[in-house]
Amino acid sequence: MALRNYVENVVLQEYRNYVANHPEFCRCSRCRDDLLALTLNRLPGHYVTSEEGSIRADAEVQVNRQLRVDVVKAMYEAASIVQAHPHHGPDQRGTG
Ligand SMILES: [Zn+2]
Repeated sequence: MALRNYVENVVLQEYRNYVANHPEFCRCSRCRDDLLALTLNRLPGHYVTSEEGSIRADAEVQVNRQLRVDVVKAMYEAASIVQAHPHHGPDQRGTG
């Protein structure tokens, strides 16, 4: 069975956009993972099979437009939490 959470794809895309536009956000792997996890936890999963994902690609475009708005909103909220309470150690900042 090939299941994947479509939201993860969108979150990863928007993470790249987010850090490109927010150079102040820490680039270490710990903060990245915290941001991705917090963002995904705020969003309902949208699971598709790999076959269904390709068949329904056109229909997904309409869903994705709203999904992308929701992902960006959740990511901004998550980023403020990660930046306020970073889990990285002092030696980890800027690596990864
Ligand atoms: Zn960090």
